[in-house]
Amino acid sequence: QASAVFRADIVVIGAGQAGLSSAYHLGRLGLAAGRQFVVLDRNPTPGGAWQHRWPSLTLSTVNRVHDLPGMQFSEAVDTSAGEARASEAVPQYFASYERRYRLPIYRPVTVKVVCERFGRLRIETDHEAFSARGIINATGTWETPNVPVYPGSELFKGRQLHTRDYRTAEEFAGKHVVIVGGGISALQHLDEISKVVDTTWVTRSEPRFREGSFTPEDGRAAVALVEDRVRRGLIPGSVVSVTGIPLTPALQAARDRGALKRLPMFSEITEDGVRWPDGSEQKADVILWATGFRSSLDHLGPLGLREDNGGIVMTGRLATQVKKDPRIHLVGYGPSASTIGANRAGSAAARELATFLGLI
Ligand code: FAD
Repeated sequence: QASAVFRADIVVIGAGQAGLSSAYHLGRLGLAAGRQFVVLDRNPTPGGAWQHRWPSLTLSTVNRVHDLPGMQFSEAVDTSAGEARASEAVPQYFASYERRYRLPIYRPVTVKVVCERFGRLRIETDHEAFSARGIINATGTWETPNVPVYPGSELFKGRQLHTRDYRTAEEFAGKHVVIVGGGISALQHLDEISKVVDTTWVTRSEPRFREGSFTPEDGRAAVALVEDRVRRGLIPGSVVSVTGIPLTPALQAARDRGALKRLPMFSEITEDGVRWPDGSEQKADVILWATGFRSSLDHLGPLGLREDNGGIVMTGRLATQVKKDPRIHLVGYGPSASTIGANRAGSAAARELATFLGLI
Protein backbone atom coordinates (compact mmCIF):
# COMPACT_ATOMS: atom_id res chain seq x y z
CA GLN A 1 0.00 0.00 0.00
CA ALA A 2 1.58 3.30 -1.11
CA SER A 3 1.70 5.88 1.67
CA ALA A 4 1.21 9.16 -0.23
CA VAL A 5 -1.76 9.72 -2.51
CA PHE A 6 -1.54 12.70 -4.81
CA ARG A 7 -4.80 14.39 -5.69
CA ALA A 8 -5.61 16.13 -8.95
CA ASP A 9 -8.83 16.81 -10.80
CA ILE A 10 -7.61 15.15 -13.98
CA VAL A 11 -4.85 12.63 -14.56
CA VAL A 12 -3.66 12.20 -18.13
CA ILE A 13 -2.07 8.77 -18.65
CA GLY A 14 0.56 8.73 -21.41
CA ALA A 15 2.69 11.49 -22.95
CA GLY A 16 2.69 10.65 -26.65
CA GLN A 17 0.97 12.84 -29.22
CA ALA A 18 -2.42 12.17 -27.61
CA GLY A 19 -1.38 12.90 -24.03
CA LEU A 20 0.60 16.03 -24.94
CA SER A 21 -2.27 17.45 -26.98
CA SER A 22 -4.68 16.77 -24.11
CA ALA A 23 -2.37 18.39 -21.55
CA TYR A 24 -1.81 21.42 -23.77
CA HIS A 25 -5.55 21.95 -24.07
CA LEU A 26 -6.17 21.48 -20.34
CA GLY A 27 -3.63 24.24 -19.76
CA ARG A 28 -5.26 26.46 -22.37
CA LEU A 29 -8.59 26.05 -20.63
CA GLY A 30 -7.00 27.60 -17.55
CA LEU A 31 -6.49 24.50 -15.43
CA ALA A 32 -3.50 24.71 -13.09
CA ALA A 33 -0.64 22.45 -14.18
CA GLY A 34 0.51 20.10 -11.43
CA ARG A 35 -2.46 20.86 -9.18
CA GLN A 36 -5.57 20.43 -11.29
CA PHE A 37 -3.98 18.13 -13.85
CA VAL A 38 -0.89 15.96 -14.13
CA VAL A 39 0.47 13.64 -16.81
CA LEU A 40 1.97 10.23 -16.01
CA ASP A 41 4.22 8.58 -18.56
CA ARG A 42 5.85 5.19 -18.55
CA ASN A 43 8.71 6.12 -20.84
CA PRO A 44 11.92 7.39 -19.26
CA THR A 45 12.24 10.27 -21.72
CA PRO A 46 9.97 12.37 -24.00
CA GLY A 47 8.83 10.96 -27.34
CA GLY A 48 6.01 8.52 -26.62
CA ALA A 49 6.35 5.35 -28.68
CA TRP A 50 8.37 7.19 -31.31
CA GLN A 51 11.55 6.79 -29.26
CA HIS A 52 11.30 3.01 -29.84
CA ARG A 53 10.72 2.99 -33.60
CA TRP A 54 13.31 1.20 -35.75
CA PRO A 55 16.26 3.27 -37.02
CA SER A 56 15.41 3.13 -40.73
CA LEU A 57 12.05 4.81 -40.08
CA THR A 58 12.84 8.39 -40.98
CA LEU A 59 10.75 11.51 -41.26
CA SER A 60 10.48 10.84 -44.98
CA THR A 61 9.39 7.20 -44.63
CA VAL A 62 6.73 7.76 -41.94
CA ASN A 63 3.26 8.63 -43.24
CA ARG A 64 3.38 12.04 -41.65
CA VAL A 65 3.84 13.32 -38.12
CA HIS A 66 1.51 16.25 -37.66
CA ASP A 67 2.60 19.22 -35.56
CA LEU A 68 1.31 19.29 -32.00
CA PRO A 69 -1.03 22.20 -31.27
CA GLY A 70 0.77 25.52 -30.82
CA MET A 71 4.28 24.62 -32.02
CA GLN A 72 5.73 23.61 -35.34
CA PHE A 73 8.09 20.66 -35.71
CA SER A 74 10.62 22.89 -37.46
CA GLU A 75 10.85 25.15 -34.40
CA ALA A 76 12.44 22.28 -32.47
CA VAL A 77 14.20 20.13 -35.06
CA ASP A 78 16.46 21.06 -37.93
CA THR A 79 15.66 18.45 -40.56
CA SER A 80 17.54 20.16 -43.40
CA ALA A 81 20.71 18.12 -42.82
CA GLY A 82 19.19 14.99 -44.38
CA GLU A 83 17.24 11.96 -43.30
CA ALA A 84 16.26 12.44 -39.67
CA ARG A 85 15.40 9.28 -37.75
CA ALA A 86 11.85 9.45 -36.42
CA SER A 87 13.11 7.83 -33.20
CA GLU A 88 15.36 10.84 -32.58
CA ALA A 89 13.60 13.77 -34.24
CA VAL A 90 10.14 13.25 -32.72
CA PRO A 91 11.46 12.85 -29.17
CA GLN A 92 13.50 16.02 -29.65
CA TYR A 93 10.36 17.86 -30.76
CA PHE A 94 8.27 16.49 -27.89
CA ALA A 95 10.98 17.46 -25.38
CA SER A 96 10.96 21.08 -26.61
CA TYR A 97 7.19 21.08 -26.56
CA GLU A 98 6.98 19.83 -22.99
CA ARG A 99 9.43 22.52 -21.89
CA ARG A 100 7.73 25.33 -23.76
CA TYR A 101 4.32 24.60 -22.28
CA ARG A 102 5.70 23.51 -18.87
CA LEU A 103 3.62 20.38 -18.98
CA PRO A 104 3.46 18.65 -15.58
CA ILE A 105 4.75 15.23 -16.65
CA TYR A 106 5.95 12.62 -14.18
CA ARG A 107 8.15 9.88 -15.65
CA PRO A 108 8.97 7.12 -15.68
CA VAL A 109 5.69 6.28 -13.96
CA THR A 110 3.74 3.21 -15.04
CA VAL A 111 0.05 3.11 -14.24
CA LYS A 112 -0.69 -0.41 -13.04
CA VAL A 113 -4.39 -0.18 -12.40
CA VAL A 114 -7.23 2.31 -12.12
CA CYS A 115 -10.18 1.58 -9.85
CA GLU A 116 -13.14 3.25 -8.21
CA ARG A 117 -12.48 4.57 -4.70
CA PHE A 118 -15.07 6.55 -2.72
CA GLY A 119 -16.49 8.25 -5.80
CA ARG A 120 -13.05 9.14 -7.16
CA LEU A 121 -10.68 7.28 -9.42
CA ARG A 122 -7.64 5.76 -7.75
CA ILE A 123 -4.64 5.37 -10.01
CA GLU A 124 -2.09 2.89 -8.73
CA THR A 125 1.37 3.26 -10.23
CA ASP A 126 4.80 1.78 -9.70
CA HIS A 127 5.49 4.89 -7.61
CA GLU A 128 2.88 6.93 -5.72
CA ALA A 129 -0.87 6.49 -6.04
CA PHE A 130 -2.98 9.27 -7.51
CA SER A 131 -6.59 10.15 -6.91
CA ALA A 132 -8.54 11.94 -9.63
CA ARG A 133 -12.05 12.97 -10.58
CA GLY A 134 -11.47 12.24 -14.27
CA ILE A 135 -8.97 10.56 -16.57
CA ILE A 136 -7.76 11.17 -20.07
CA ASN A 137 -6.21 7.89 -21.13
CA ALA A 138 -3.64 8.27 -23.89
CA THR A 139 -1.57 5.10 -23.61
CA GLY A 140 -1.36 4.22 -27.31
CA THR A 141 -0.74 0.70 -28.52
CA TRP A 142 3.03 0.14 -28.47
CA GLU A 143 2.99 -1.68 -25.12
CA THR A 144 0.58 -4.35 -26.39
CA PRO A 145 1.88 -6.05 -29.55
CA ASN A 146 -0.51 -8.48 -31.13
CA VAL A 147 0.98 -11.90 -31.91
CA PRO A 148 -1.53 -14.50 -33.12
CA VAL A 149 -1.14 -18.02 -31.82
CA TYR A 150 -0.40 -20.79 -34.35
CA PRO A 151 0.09 -24.46 -33.58
CA GLY A 152 3.70 -25.49 -33.25
CA SER A 153 4.95 -22.04 -32.30
CA GLU A 154 6.83 -23.45 -29.31
CA LEU A 155 8.64 -25.98 -31.52
CA PHE A 156 10.27 -23.41 -33.78
CA LYS A 157 14.05 -23.40 -33.32
CA GLY A 158 14.59 -20.12 -35.12
CA ARG A 159 13.84 -16.61 -33.94
CA GLN A 160 10.38 -15.08 -33.66
CA LEU A 161 10.01 -11.36 -33.24
CA HIS A 162 7.36 -8.67 -33.55
CA THR A 163 7.52 -5.30 -35.33
CA ARG A 164 8.14 -3.83 -31.89
CA ASP A 165 11.54 -5.58 -31.75
CA TYR A 166 12.57 -4.99 -35.36
CA ARG A 167 15.73 -2.92 -35.74
CA THR A 168 17.42 -3.47 -39.09
CA ALA A 169 17.36 -5.86 -42.06
CA GLU A 170 21.11 -6.50 -41.77
CA GLU A 171 20.65 -8.53 -38.60
CA PHE A 172 19.01 -11.25 -40.74
CA ALA A 173 21.95 -11.66 -43.13
CA GLY A 174 22.14 -15.22 -44.47
CA LYS A 175 18.74 -16.18 -43.04
CA HIS A 176 15.34 -16.87 -44.56
CA VAL A 177 12.70 -14.57 -43.08
CA VAL A 178 8.95 -15.18 -43.08
CA ILE A 179 7.10 -11.88 -42.71
CA VAL A 180 3.52 -12.09 -41.46
CA GLY A 181 1.04 -9.24 -41.93
CA GLY A 182 -0.57 -6.98 -44.50
CA GLY A 183 -0.23 -3.51 -43.01
CA ILE A 184 2.16 -0.66 -43.63
CA SER A 185 4.75 -1.92 -41.13
CA ALA A 186 4.78 -5.39 -42.73
CA LEU A 187 5.41 -3.86 -46.13
CA GLN A 188 8.17 -1.62 -44.88
CA HIS A 189 9.88 -4.61 -43.27
CA LEU A 190 9.40 -6.67 -46.43
CA ASP A 191 10.85 -3.95 -48.61
CA GLU A 192 13.94 -3.57 -46.44
CA ILE A 193 14.57 -7.22 -45.66
CA SER A 194 13.97 -8.50 -49.20
CA LYS A 195 16.88 -6.36 -50.37
CA VAL A 196 19.20 -8.30 -48.05
CA VAL A 197 17.90 -11.87 -47.80
CA ASP A 198 15.23 -14.26 -49.11
CA THR A 199 11.79 -13.59 -47.74
CA THR A 200 8.37 -15.23 -47.69
CA TRP A 201 5.42 -12.93 -47.21
CA VAL A 202 2.14 -14.24 -45.81
CA THR A 203 -1.11 -12.44 -45.06
CA ARG A 204 -4.55 -13.62 -43.97
CA SER A 205 -6.35 -11.87 -46.80
CA GLU A 206 -5.25 -10.53 -50.18
CA PRO A 207 -3.70 -7.09 -49.52
CA ARG A 208 -5.39 -4.18 -51.27
CA PHE A 209 -2.93 -1.82 -52.89
CA ARG A 210 -3.92 1.55 -54.17
CA GLU A 211 -2.19 3.80 -56.66
CA GLY A 212 -1.16 7.18 -55.26
CA SER A 213 -1.15 8.44 -51.71
CA PHE A 214 -4.06 9.04 -49.35
CA THR A 215 -6.22 12.01 -50.15
CA PRO A 216 -7.79 14.00 -47.30
CA GLU A 217 -11.16 12.53 -48.36
CA ASP A 218 -9.78 8.98 -47.94
CA GLY A 219 -8.57 9.91 -44.50
CA ARG A 220 -11.91 11.38 -43.49
CA ALA A 221 -13.83 8.39 -44.81
CA ALA A 222 -11.61 5.95 -42.93
CA VAL A 223 -11.88 7.92 -39.70
CA ALA A 224 -15.68 8.17 -40.05
CA LEU A 225 -15.89 4.42 -40.42
CA VAL A 226 -13.78 3.73 -37.35
CA GLU A 227 -15.70 6.39 -35.41
CA ASP A 228 -18.96 4.70 -36.30
CA ARG A 229 -17.56 1.38 -35.08
CA VAL A 230 -16.52 2.69 -31.66
CA ARG A 231 -19.78 4.57 -31.18
CA ARG A 232 -21.46 1.19 -31.60
CA GLY A 233 -19.06 -0.41 -29.11
CA LEU A 234 -17.17 -2.48 -31.67
CA ILE A 235 -13.41 -3.08 -31.67
CA PRO A 236 -11.98 -0.13 -33.69
CA GLY A 237 -10.32 -2.11 -36.53
CA SER A 238 -7.37 -0.91 -38.58
CA VAL A 239 -7.47 2.10 -40.84
CA VAL A 240 -5.50 0.31 -43.59
CA SER A 241 -8.27 -2.26 -43.84
CA VAL A 242 -10.46 0.64 -44.95
CA THR A 243 -8.10 2.67 -47.13
CA GLY A 244 -5.82 0.08 -48.72
CA ILE A 245 -2.03 0.41 -48.81
CA PRO A 246 -0.60 3.25 -50.88
CA LEU A 247 1.77 1.90 -53.54
CA THR A 248 4.69 4.22 -52.83
CA PRO A 249 7.69 4.35 -55.20
CA ALA A 250 9.57 2.12 -52.73
CA LEU A 251 6.80 -0.49 -52.82
CA GLN A 252 6.54 -0.27 -56.59
CA ALA A 253 10.24 -1.01 -56.80
CA ALA A 254 9.79 -3.92 -54.40
CA ARG A 255 7.01 -5.25 -56.60
CA ASP A 256 9.23 -4.93 -59.69
CA ARG A 257 11.92 -6.95 -57.89
CA GLY A 258 9.31 -9.64 -57.25
CA ALA A 259 9.38 -9.12 -53.49
CA LEU A 260 5.63 -8.57 -53.09
CA LYS A 261 4.68 -12.13 -53.95
CA ARG A 262 2.15 -12.90 -51.26
CA LEU A 263 1.15 -16.33 -49.92
CA PRO A 264 -1.90 -17.14 -47.82
CA MET A 265 -1.45 -17.67 -44.11
CA PHE A 266 0.30 -20.89 -43.07
CA SER A 267 -1.59 -23.20 -40.73
CA GLU A 268 1.23 -24.34 -38.47
CA ILE A 269 4.77 -23.67 -37.38
CA THR A 270 7.31 -26.47 -37.45
CA GLU A 271 10.77 -26.88 -35.91
CA ASP A 272 12.40 -25.29 -38.90
CA GLY A 273 9.75 -23.35 -40.76
CA VAL A 274 6.08 -23.04 -41.56
CA ARG A 275 3.55 -25.37 -43.18
CA TRP A 276 0.36 -24.71 -45.15
CA PRO A 277 -2.83 -26.79 -45.02
CA ASP A 278 -1.93 -28.56 -48.31
CA GLY A 279 1.28 -29.87 -46.67
CA SER A 280 3.67 -27.57 -48.49
CA GLU A 281 6.44 -26.15 -46.32
CA GLN A 282 8.89 -23.27 -46.24
CA LYS A 283 12.09 -23.57 -44.26
CA ALA A 284 12.80 -20.41 -42.28
CA ASP A 285 15.21 -19.05 -39.69
CA VAL A 286 13.10 -16.09 -38.63
CA ILE A 287 9.37 -15.35 -38.33
CA LEU A 288 8.67 -11.63 -38.14
CA TRP A 289 5.18 -10.92 -36.86
CA ALA A 290 4.10 -7.59 -38.31
CA THR A 291 0.64 -8.25 -36.97
CA GLY A 292 -0.11 -4.95 -35.34
CA PHE A 293 -0.94 -3.82 -31.86
CA ARG A 294 -3.92 -3.68 -29.49
CA SER A 295 -4.93 -0.60 -27.53
CA SER A 296 -3.04 -0.60 -24.22
CA LEU A 297 -6.03 -0.40 -21.87
CA ASP A 298 -5.52 -3.32 -19.49
CA HIS A 299 -4.94 -1.01 -16.52
CA LEU A 300 -8.54 0.21 -16.88
CA GLY A 301 -9.86 -3.36 -16.47
CA PRO A 302 -11.43 -2.94 -12.99
CA LEU A 303 -13.62 -0.10 -14.30
CA GLY A 304 -15.53 -2.61 -16.44
CA LEU A 305 -15.70 -0.38 -19.50
CA ARG A 306 -15.75 -3.19 -22.05
CA GLU A 307 -18.80 -4.83 -23.56
CA ASP A 308 -19.01 -8.60 -23.96
CA ASN A 309 -17.47 -8.36 -27.43
CA GLY A 310 -14.40 -6.57 -26.01
CA GLY A 311 -15.31 -3.18 -27.47
CA ILE A 312 -16.06 0.03 -25.56
CA VAL A 313 -19.08 2.19 -26.40
CA MET A 314 -17.77 5.70 -27.06
CA THR A 315 -19.64 8.99 -27.18
CA GLY A 316 -18.91 12.73 -27.17
CA ARG A 317 -18.12 15.16 -30.00
CA LEU A 318 -15.17 13.13 -31.35
CA ALA A 319 -16.08 9.85 -29.66
CA THR A 320 -13.44 10.19 -26.94
CA GLN A 321 -15.79 9.80 -23.96
CA VAL A 322 -16.63 6.38 -22.52
CA LYS A 323 -20.41 6.16 -22.48
CA LYS A 324 -20.55 3.91 -19.41
CA ASP A 325 -18.33 6.24 -17.40
CA PRO A 326 -18.18 9.86 -18.63
CA ARG A 327 -15.24 10.59 -16.30
CA ILE A 328 -13.03 8.58 -18.65
CA HIS A 329 -11.84 9.78 -22.06
CA LEU A 330 -9.77 7.71 -24.45
CA VAL A 331 -7.58 9.76 -26.77
CA GLY A 332 -5.51 8.09 -29.48
CA TYR A 333 -8.04 5.26 -29.50
CA GLY A 334 -10.07 4.25 -32.56
CA PRO A 335 -10.74 7.25 -34.83
CA SER A 336 -8.04 9.32 -33.10
CA ALA A 337 -5.22 6.77 -33.48
CA SER A 338 -3.15 9.04 -35.69
CA THR A 339 -1.10 12.12 -34.96
CA ILE A 340 -3.72 14.47 -36.43
CA GLY A 341 -6.57 12.56 -34.81
CA ALA A 342 -4.83 12.66 -31.44
CA ASN A 343 -4.42 16.45 -31.73
CA ARG A 344 -8.12 17.01 -32.31
CA ALA A 345 -9.29 14.41 -29.83
CA GLY A 346 -7.05 15.92 -27.13
CA SER A 347 -8.83 19.22 -27.59
CA ALA A 348 -12.30 17.69 -27.50
CA ALA A 349 -11.53 15.48 -24.50
CA ALA A 350 -9.97 18.31 -22.46
CA ARG A 351 -12.97 20.59 -22.98
CA GLU A 352 -15.61 17.92 -22.46
CA LEU A 353 -14.03 16.48 -19.34
CA ALA A 354 -13.31 19.88 -17.78
CA THR A 355 -16.93 20.88 -18.46
CA PHE A 356 -18.30 17.63 -17.09
CA LEU A 357 -16.31 18.07 -13.88
CA GLY A 358 -17.41 21.70 -13.58
CA LEU A 359 -13.84 23.01 -13.85
CA ILE A 360 -14.59 25.56 -16.57
P1 FAD B 1 2.17 6.71 -28.00
O1 FAD B 1 3.09 7.53 -28.80
O2 FAD B 1 2.35 5.24 -27.98
O3 FAD B 1 2.23 7.26 -26.50
C1 FAD B 1 1.67 6.57 -25.43
C2 FAD B 1 2.46 6.88 -24.19
O4 FAD B 1 1.76 6.29 -23.10
C3 FAD B 1 3.84 6.27 -24.21
O5 FAD B 1 4.79 7.23 -23.83
C4 FAD B 1 3.75 5.14 -23.20
O6 FAD B 1 4.94 4.90 -22.51
C5 FAD B 1 2.68 5.65 -22.27
N1 FAD B 1 2.01 4.57 -21.55
C6 FAD B 1 1.49 3.44 -22.06
N2 FAD B 1 0.97 2.67 -21.07
C7 FAD B 1 1.16 3.36 -19.93
C8 FAD B 1 0.85 3.12 -18.56
N3 FAD B 1 0.22 1.99 -18.18
N4 FAD B 1 1.22 4.03 -17.63
C9 FAD B 1 1.84 5.18 -18.00
N5 FAD B 1 2.16 5.46 -19.29
C10 FAD B 1 1.82 4.57 -20.23
N6 FAD B 1 0.59 8.00 -37.13
C11 FAD B 1 0.64 9.10 -37.91
O7 FAD B 1 -0.22 9.99 -37.81
N7 FAD B 1 1.66 9.25 -38.81
C12 FAD B 1 2.65 8.32 -38.97
O8 FAD B 1 3.53 8.51 -39.77
C13 FAD B 1 2.60 7.14 -38.15
N8 FAD B 1 3.56 6.19 -38.24
C14 FAD B 1 3.50 5.11 -37.43
C15 FAD B 1 4.49 4.14 -37.52
C16 FAD B 1 4.46 3.01 -36.72
C17 FAD B 1 5.52 1.98 -36.85
C18 FAD B 1 3.40 2.83 -35.80
C19 FAD B 1 3.33 1.61 -34.92
C20 FAD B 1 2.41 3.80 -35.69
C21 FAD B 1 2.43 4.93 -36.51
N9 FAD B 1 1.44 5.90 -36.43
C22 FAD B 1 1.52 7.03 -37.22
C23 FAD B 1 0.37 5.79 -35.48
C24 FAD B 1 0.94 6.45 -34.23
O9 FAD B 1 1.32 5.50 -33.32
C25 FAD B 1 0.01 7.48 -33.68
O10 FAD B 1 -0.33 8.36 -34.65
C26 FAD B 1 0.55 8.30 -32.52
O11 FAD B 1 1.93 8.52 -32.54
C27 FAD B 1 0.17 7.60 -31.29
O12 FAD B 1 0.28 8.53 -30.25
P2 FAD B 1 -0.26 8.16 -28.83
O13 FAD B 1 -0.01 9.34 -27.97
O14 FAD B 1 -1.63 7.65 -28.92
O15 FAD B 1 0.63 6.90 -28.39
